[in-house]
Amino acid sequence: MSLQIEGVYLAPGSSQSQKGRVELVQEELSLYLEGSSAPHRCCDLDDCEQGEVLAGLAVELRFADGGLFTPDDVRFRWPQTSGGQRALHWLEGHWSAVLAGVLVVPLFLWVMVTKALPAAADASVSLLPDAVPRQLGEQTLYLLDKTLMDPSELSETQQERVRGQWQHALQQLSLDGSGYQLLFRSSKMGANAFALPDGTVVVTDEIVTLMEPAPNALTAVLLHEIGHVEHQHGMKQLARATANSMLFAMVLGDIEGAGEVVIGAGSSLINSAFSRDMESEADHFAHQQLKQLGLSPGHFAAAMRLLAEANHQSLDEGGSGHWTQYLSSHPETLERIHAAEDAAEKQDGQ
Ligand SMILES: [Zn+2]
Repeated sequence: MSLQIEGVYLAPGSSQSQKGRVELVQEELSLYLEGSSAPHRCCDLDDCEQGEVLAGLAVELRFADGGLFTPDDVRFRWPQTSGGQRALHWLEGHWSAVLAGVLVVPLFLWVMVTKALPAAADASVSLLPDAVPRQLGEQTLYLLDKTLMDPSELSETQQERVRGQWQHALQQLSLDGSGYQLLFRSSKMGANAFALPDGTVVVTDEIVTLMEPAPNALTAVLLHEIGHVEHQHGMKQLARATANSMLFAMVLGDIEGAGEVVIGAGSSLINSAFSRDMESEADHFAHQQLKQLGLSPGHFAAAMRLLAEANHQSLDEGGSGHWTQYLSSHPETLERIHAAEDAAEKQDGQ
């Protein structure tokens, strides 16, 4: 490929332009000034920077030292050397590609947010040192004790009974009991139970009292919470929320703000609910472990019914899910009850 391009040359630091021409043989570029047969300068086209491509304007060529060559022909386009530039020019010339881009970007974000990021975030959790869930658990418990919870008012006998159930379940299921602790709290959140990432499971006085006539229902609840810990749902939830915030910070060009997102992640553990798939996973864990203990998954359904009643929630309205709105979420109560009853029926059928 050999090209001759007439134009105007502006030497670096000079405001005096000179007529000249550029000869291009392959990628080798030689600049001749008017009236001279010897090249004024030679270099590789790759070492020059090409100006913006704008309709109706010539595309300048900037040499490494700041010298500038502007072709006379406004339609002239320099051969593209770098892949990035080539792609950009191709895109500029193809409206269908631009339109596709408009569609692809949201689609890309959707796939990232719903599939790729959760998967990557979940996988990242296993790489974290144990100190991270431990500290998050302690931090969250501290915050909850400051805001939503008070010391338990249950009698020692009541606490002992539940602790006995808890210990029995841990032993029978050969779970590492040292990784778990059960705490009793009185709380403004009513009948509730939740797990923290470090294996701390908190039950409120209200849920203990509520399930005193049906102790196996409370075991089902405790198993569900253990399921959240075993599947590391708390940490995964945080990792997902953090990854999403960072993605949007990057897309919106506010990457400095992403640091705050990471730092603020601890508090989101209290506000955010487990995702639907996590609740289902914990429910399934509870069904399986109940069977292991020789109990029916129907006890889980019974627990859900008791909680729904206690929270004055109509089962049909499909309300707030999990135990209550704190640290909790869907699948809708009725659906979860049905899943437990299905599991119970299957067990009976065996
Ligand atoms: Zn749950």
